[in-house]
Amino acid sequence: MNANQPPPLVDYNLFEADAPLREALEREGASWAHDLVHDLGSLAGTQQAIDWGFQANANPPHLRTHDRFGNRIDEVEFHPAWHELMHVAIGHGLHALPWREPRAGAHVARAAAFHIWSQVEGGHGCPVSMTYAAVPALRQEPRLAQQWEPLMTTLDYDPGLRPPATKRGVLFGMAMTERQGGSDVRTNTTKAVPTGSNGEHLVTGHKWFCSAPMCDAFLVLAQAPRGLSCFLMPRVLPDGTRNGFHIERLKDKLGNRSNASSEVAFEDAWAVLVGEEGKGVRTIIEMVNHTRLDCIIGSASLMRQAVAQATHHTAHRRAFGKLLSEQPLMVNVLADIAVESEATTLLMMRLARAFDHADDPGEAHFRRIGVALGKFWTCKRAVAVVAEALECHGGNGYVEESILPRLYREAPLNSIWEGSGNVNALDVLRAMQHEPATVSAYLAEVELALGQNAAFDQAVDELKRNMLNSQDAESGARLLVERMAVLLEGSLLLRHGDQIVTELFISSRIAGKWGHSFGTLEPGPGLKSALERHRPRLD
Ligand SMILES: Cc1cc2nc3c(=O)[nH]c(=O)nc-3n(C[C@H](O)[C@H](O)[C@H](O)COP(=O)(O)OP(=O)(O)OC[C@H]3O[C@@H](n4cnc5c(N)ncnc54)[C@H](O)[C@@H]3O)c2cc1C
Repeated sequence: MNANQPPPLVDYNLFEADAPLREALEREGASWAHDLVHDLGSLAGTQQAIDWGFQANANPPHLRTHDRFGNRIDEVEFHPAWHELMHVAIGHGLHALPWREPRAGAHVARAAAFHIWSQVEGGHGCPVSMTYAAVPALRQEPRLAQQWEPLMTTLDYDPGLRPPATKRGVLFGMAMTERQGGSDVRTNTTKAVPTGSNGEHLVTGHKWFCSAPMCDAFLVLAQAPRGLSCFLMPRVLPDGTRNGFHIERLKDKLGNRSNASSEVAFEDAWAVLVGEEGKGVRTIIEMVNHTRLDCIIGSASLMRQAVAQATHHTAHRRAFGKLLSEQPLMVNVLADIAVESEATTLLMMRLARAFDHADDPGEAHFRRIGVALGKFWTCKRAVAVVAEALECHGGNGYVEESILPRLYREAPLNSIWEGSGNVNALDVLRAMQHEPATVSAYLAEVELALGQNAAFDQAVDELKRNMLNSQDAESGARLLVERMAVLLEGSLLLRHGDQIVTELFISSRIAGKWGHSFGTLEPGPGLKSALERHRPRLD
């Protein structure tokens, strides 16, 4: 007997239930991908997919350093549910869609699909994202790209350590962070010694964080004779022997538990130079740009799943004689987190479009600054939104079966890897100081919405006056970047958002009629409408 407990949120289409995402897919140029995202949305709502997500996290990966005869094997074993999740992700091209189908809207299509499938389970998105992101970095070395890209872009998930040429598909990771420094990779001590022609080197040293170590190859930073350089390091050599890549241990992590993150040691590991020697950061930054977009997508997907769960739960749970979703204060909380989720979705999809048009200088400049400020802001907001959505469930939200604890543990990670919050905020400053065209591109986008709302116009004016005249720029970076991100979201909403959601966003986040916690929007009839727009309906 179900005593005032809601029905499970299952058997619904996550894409069809997500109005802001559906609208953005059309608007940002990827209507052609409707069926792909629709199908994933349907699969993501099934009990089977939901079970895979829970099983992969309840049964984290295990490291096997040696086989029964004492031979070093450095393998990680995953639960079958992990492999099922990977099969779907790779089978739907989430690791490669824009490289397989380089047409207008391809990055937008992938963003929408990744956003949907990540809601089932976040951890396996790590190797999927890194493989997607490694391609543009590798293209800086056409000889290597020609050899590896065909294998990186197949729709076959082919796990296991074997010579790459014998596999139907391969996955890539990245290894930059060392014990003595992650943000400041200039402190890397891992050494690469040239062994002959064609950029071949032997690498010795360590990495303090190396996720998804069962990937087939890694882009690695190491000190070559002419400085920090980027290398491609396979786990298995062409003759079938294992490379000198040893997994020391797996990290015992707060969240992201389905995924393996490891400490690794390199012992004369064979690797080949990618890009110019001594310019390793410049080479690998192309990969980082793409994984940063995925941190934004990941944060958007965490928010969306949290809002979907909270609006669903409260629509079926009663307290004090009424449904929670009818209680005025709960309506305010739900509307507030829904507004945040919608703003993030619009920003994520607009940034994905900038990746589709990276050969247009204006879009390239917009992408340069937009990804850094978007990563800073959306990753921060995900933590707060997920925590609030968890509380909407009362005690049920604190229990693992509700998925909220998993979302809560996952949320801070996007803000740490691929450049932590401060590093991204400082990156925005760097772009503003050294690449002024990025500021023009940012303003050109924001100002497209001028003339529609007086509070917005005034805030843009203020931002422009304060933008570059700070005496203490670094110390004020978060405040500035936060303001820039909110105004960009406001501009997107004014042009494309739901009218009521937009009004709520502008009056709270820009005109300042808002408190310091969610649920402090100005009371009014629009709150219920914003919440209903975001509530998933069971099929
Ligand atoms: C689960 C997980 C998986 C990971 N997987 C990988 C992986 O696969 N490959 C990989 O290479 N790395 C990986 N990382 C590492 C991650 O990228 C780093 O942890 C991150 O870049 C921060 O580096 P750090 O840990 O050395 O922190 P630090 O560099 O010591 O930074 C600590 C804090 O100081 C701040 N800070 C740094 N510089 C400044 C400054 N100038 N001004 C103000 N504040 C500053 C940072 O923002 C951060 O908040 C992973 C991390 C985690 C948690």
